[in-house]
Amino acid sequence: MTAMLIDGKQIAADLRRAMAAAVVGLKSAHGLVPGLAVVLVGEHAPSQIYVRNKQKAAKEVGLNSFEYNLSAEMPQDELLKLIAELNANAAVHGILVQLPLPPQIDAMAVLDAIDPAKDVDGFHVINAGRLTVGQPAMIPCTPKGCLYLLKDHLKLPLAGMRTLVIGRSNIVGKPMAALLLAEGCTVTIAHSKTRDLPTECARADIIVAAIGRPEFVRGEWIKKGAVVIDVGINRVEDPADPRGYRVAGDVEFTSAAARAAAITPVPGGVGPMTIACLISNTIKAACLITNVPRS
Ligand code: NAD
Repeated sequence: MTAMLIDGKQIAADLRRAMAAAVVGLKSAHGLVPGLAVVLVGEHAPSQIYVRNKQKAAKEVGLNSFEYNLSAEMPQDELLKLIAELNANAAVHGILVQLPLPPQIDAMAVLDAIDPAKDVDGFHVINAGRLTVGQPAMIPCTPKGCLYLLKDHLKLPLAGMRTLVIGRSNIVGKPMAALLLAEGCTVTIAHSKTRDLPTECARADIIVAAIGRPEFVRGEWIKKGAVVIDVGINRVEDPADPRGYRVAGDVEFTSAAARAAAITPVPGGVGPMTIACLISNTIKAACLITNVPRS
């Protein structure tokens, strides 16, 4: 391996430590304790793990955590009623509804029912629009975390860099592309209809892979010296692992690390950054809603 490993776990732990100190300051100076409501509908196993990790991190940083574990049969109107209550609850500054939602529920309707000021996932159409036109917005946590790694951690001179975002989801790919564009990158978005992904990869200085297919991006496609951010979280059957599976990213790690200048591991790369950015968005929302300056 020649690439520098981007240790998202450590970077996120440092961020959480700084945020815990900021939360102590908000409480003592302003009596403000940011509150995060996390809503899980059903028993989707990976979602249960994600939600647990988010709640644990919120509590460790000193936030108030409001937890809602709802039945998979929950009707949409009842979920919308809960969202309205959380919108009106002054102790709740951030609302996160874990996706995916069961089929009887229209996810878009639920996300758009969240007060945009409390939309700490940044999925509300108002926040997506603000991001696109360059207005202050709640930024989706995963792309925000990826940008932090590129801009604040690696300190890359992003303006003018050729960047390939693989994936065009509303959650990762599109906001990631918007953030990089705002930094002055030359951004290409590749997706399931892209004709020649290896050629697109070969000319990218930065690759952000958010596809959801294990080890799909081959190491040999990557330009020597490129920076690789692997967003993918995929379970791959592995009888040698006591769990019966291992977690793999969207990029073939070993061969990519032999060519890249820097790369995120999976796990331990982007995942912890997503959670740190959720906490950061909740603190930001609490300060904006209560008109308290952020420390
Ligand atoms: P998604 O399924 O909504 O989108 C996947 C995207 O990949 C689509 O836009 C599709 O066009 C593209 N794609 C599919 N096949 C392709 C191909 N052959 N070539 C190029 N592009 C192709 O997924 P998502 O929600 O954006 O998540 C992507 C991955 O990131 C998943 O593995 C998910 O688990 C992971 N994820 C991780 C975090 C984290 O915190 N690390 C957060 C969100 C998502």
